[in-house]
Amino acid sequence: MSSELTDLYQELLLDHARHPHNFRAMDTASRIVEGYNPLCGDDLKLYLRLEGERIADISFQGRGCAISTASASMLTDRIKGRTVAEAEQLFDAVHDLLIGARPFADPGDLGELAALEGVSKYPMRVKCATLSWHALKAALRDQGPENVTTE
Ligand code: ZN
Repeated sequence: MSSELTDLYQELLLDHARHPHNFRAMDTASRIVEGYNPLCGDDLKLYLRLEGERIADISFQGRGCAISTASASMLTDRIKGRTVAEAEQLFDAVHDLLIGARPFADPGDLGELAALEGVSKYPMRVKCATLSWHALKAALRDQGPENVTTE
């Protein structure tokens, strides 16, 4: 990756961190999952509204570092309107990307999420970036009405 592209990605992450998208509580959520990353202190709540197999709405709130906030912001942008199956595929791709697995699931379709690749070089920060994704996975798996708390 050229340094120019790296700078561009860094700008994108900072922009999401400063102005997170879908940063709000949701009264009509069908699933709410809390995620906590003790390594950094990132603390977030992910709200999902499911309509059948489609994720009709998704939002988050909480306190976290720039990386966890940017990752959650991009997650909500990307996941809104997707099906549960599509969201699970995207989880796999982003997870592979963040842990530096090669080859990863679907590099051509990541869009903005590709900006997270740089985080894989900083093992201490990987959990910041994966936090919201693990919360998403827990929310998709949850079959009951109760909330799930991830560690
Ligand atoms: Zn963090």
